[in-house]
This record gives sequence, C-alpha cells and structure tokens, in this order.
Amino acid sequence: MTTSIERLGPDLVILGGTVVTAGDSRRADIAIRDGAIEAVEPDLGTLAAGAREVVDASGLLVLPGCVDVHTHTRVASDAEPDRFYQDSLAAAFGGTTTFLAFNNPGTGSSPAAHRSIVAGIDEFRRVTSSDSAVDFALSPAILGGMDDPLAELPAMVDAGVPTAKAFMVFDFRLADRAIYDAMAILGSRGGMLEIHCEDPVLIDSAVASALQHGDTSPRHHAATRTTEAEAVATHRAMAFARATGAPVHVVHLSCAAALGFVAAARASGVRATAETCPHYLTLTDARYEEPDPLECAKSVISPPLRPAADVEAMWAGLAAGDLSLVATDHVADRVAVEKGEAARGVSFDRISNGAPGIETLLSIVYGEGVAKGRISLERMVDVLATTPAHRFGLARKGAIEVGRDADLVLFDPAARRTIRAADLHHTSDFTPYEGMTVEGAVRSTYVRGRAIVRDGHAVCDRGVGRFVERGEAGR
Ligand SMILES: [Zn+2]
Repeated sequence: MTTSIERLGPDLVILGGTVVTAGDSRRADIAIRDGAIEAVEPDLGTLAAGAREVVDASGLLVLPGCVDVHTHTRVASDAEPDRFYQDSLAAAFGGTTTFLAFNNPGTGSSPAAHRSIVAGIDEFRRVTSSDSAVDFALSPAILGGMDDPLAELPAMVDAGVPTAKAFMVFDFRLADRAIYDAMAILGSRGGMLEIHCEDPVLIDSAVASALQHGDTSPRHHAATRTTEAEAVATHRAMAFARATGAPVHVVHLSCAAALGFVAAARASGVRATAETCPHYLTLTDARYEEPDPLECAKSVISPPLRPAADVEAMWAGLAAGDLSLVATDHVADRVAVEKGEAARGVSFDRISNGAPGIETLLSIVYGEGVAKGRISLERMVDVLATTPAHRFGLARKGAIEVGRDADLVLFDPAARRTIRAADLHHTSDFTPYEGMTVEGAVRSTYVRGRAIVRDGHAVCDRGVGRFVERGEAGR
C-alpha cells in the first residue's frame, strides 16, 4: 500500500543533521508536510526525491525552535509601526520560533487593556494579527488597578490564554490576597499564575531612603533591590502555592537565596517552576560600578544583576533541575530613548527597567552553557523548548516529534561569532552582550515548515507567524 506521504511527497526534507531532543541526540532525517513533522528516521533519502524542498543539514544540529515565554515586545504604534514585526524577526534570527508577550503598561497596550484582561486580549490579537514573523501568544499582566480581574480569569483561560502574570512590586502590583486568589482560580481551571517576586516593603523603603540621601544615580537601583527582598517574596509565593495546591511559575529568578525556596518547595510537592534569564547566567553586579550613568542604566533591570556566586548558582540550578527553563525578559529599551533619561538626571527609580534579549537567548545558553560544559545539549533543548512549551500549554511546540509543528532551527556548533548590536535585528540600539564571543550560530529557522531565516537571511513574508491559542498550562 502506498501512503499519502509517498504519493504526494513531503513539502520539505531535512537530511543528514543531528536531531536533538530533551532525551537524546541522533543523526536523523526529518520529513515535513502541511507544517507538521511527518517522519523522523535514520534515512529518508528516498522521500527526498519527491519533496518540494530538500535541505542538507550535514554538520549541523537540528533543534526544536526555542519557546521564549517572557518578552515585553511592544505592539505596533503609529510612530513605530514596525517594532513588533522587527522584534519577532529578531526572535527568528536568534532561533526562537514561539514567544509569549506580556501586555503590561509600556508595551503599547491601551488604558482599556489596563482595566480589563479580556479587553486586553482582544486588543492584543487585533493589533498583532498578520504582523509577526514567528508564532506567538499572550500572557496578560494582572494589574492592581484593574476593575475586576479575578472575575475575568475563567474567560481568559477559555480564550486559549491560560497564563497571566502578577507583580508583587511596582505601582501596578497586585495585593497579596488577590495574588493568592488568582493562583487558586487559575489552578482550578487548567491555568497557571506567573509571579514577579520582589518584596515591596523592603524595596520601597530602601528606594525612599536612597532618594532621601540624594543617591539618585542608576547604580543605586541594584543596591535597593536586594537578594533578600527577592528571596522573601519568593518564599511567600511558594507558601501561597502550597496552600492553594495550584501551579505557579516564578519569573526571572536571579539569586541563590530565592532558588533555595523554589527547590525546597518543589522537593516537598509544591507545583512550582522557575525560570532564569540569560543575563543572570552571564553578567554580574560589577556592571553597576560603571561611572557613566548612561552605561550603568543599560543594566537597570529588575531584579538587578547579582554577584558571581549567584551566576554560578543559576547554572547549577539549571543542571540540577531546580530551575526549569530560561526565558529572556526582553524589553526593547534604547540608549537613545528610554535609557537616555539617566543622562538627563532622572533618578534611578524612574528610569525604564529592562534590556533586550529576544535575539540572543540560544546564543548565550549554547555558548556559555553547552560549549563550556555547564549543561548538556539535551538539557539546553529541554530548558529552551520542551519544558517551556509543555508548562505553558503549547502542545504542538517544543519538540522534534511526529505530529508536532515543524518549528526547527539549523544550528552550526562549529561556528564562532562575536555578538555586536550592529549585527542584531531587534528594535533596541544595544545588547548587554556587546563584544562577547560565543560558540555556535543559527543558520536557518523554520516555523511550521516555512523558512523564516535561511542561511542567515530573512526570507519570510510579514505576518507568517500566528497567534497560538493554548491548552492546559501548569502541568
Ligand atoms: Zn519581565
């Protein structure tokens, strides 16, 4: 009997690469049809004859596209109509095929979206439709000033948006009781709360004290946001998760003290996961010693960069499994615009928080992690693709398996390159990794079998990327 794949031939066959999954690496060919992986076999050479496109991946790693669950990509505006598309294309250049966006204030969301979660979802889908180069989804921010956010959570999950993020700090923070209730409601509905853990009492009092002493320069940002403030808040989040029995995801964990609470909670059965970010895996608080306020402002992020011992603790946590994934916390701030406030004397507490990262995720985790022997190649695939997809309800993403979306990256492990902002495609005008030399380079990126980047060049039409309605999260 002739199967349909033999009769019609696949759309694309990728030959001769090393296919990497979270479980193993093996030399295999991949056949793709209608956007999905149809076969992964040692030899699909005979199928290649009837394929529309054949790609030789000899010497290359074939990775599942990265799933970046933490970005603050900004939607198109009248003044900057290309910024969402441009950052989505930057994701593709970096090997990311699906990203999650938050719609917190500063990302182009409207006042209506800051009052209602459902209004925010509708608005986000409207303004991003036909605009992305890769697949994407939304994780709304639950803001303290919203009309009745807890009542909207069931409708949010039903709309294919099973995760949302609450902040323990900042002026739009959610009160602890509402965080607890949001966690419970989402947990009972197949959703999951994400939480930014920093203690507002410790931080707000430290900031007020610094300002009172005239300590307004950017380096005081780090001094006022201690590891203790992060650890105390993380401990509280773990207690809420234990009491509710609900899953919870700690975003951008930066220090050993906070990690200890997550590890202990997980070991005792709490349904918690935590992510760290490439900057907490590579950069230290030495950057705040930079005398130029503008240069220092580039590292104004929350939580701030930490001492070297915490950096090593993040790698150990990834290797041991206490940290479940890596995401970027991408904020497309620019030295010439948002960060420029530092040069104009704006105090540290009012400078935009954030740094770009959407294009450098795989580069950093491969170059600093795999190439330096800190984590295995398979563990990298797990923390960049498989676990984020599974945990965030992206059933068709995150693994090279028959039936999944053909979201694939051809990666050259023998390449070596120096990261330069001038070579990146994101909307920022800097990168925290300027001048860093890393092993490995993305050659081509496919989303649902379609080339977005081929041999280092963008080849897609704007709008190929689709909004993904997600299934159950928190598993
Ligand atoms: Zn963030």
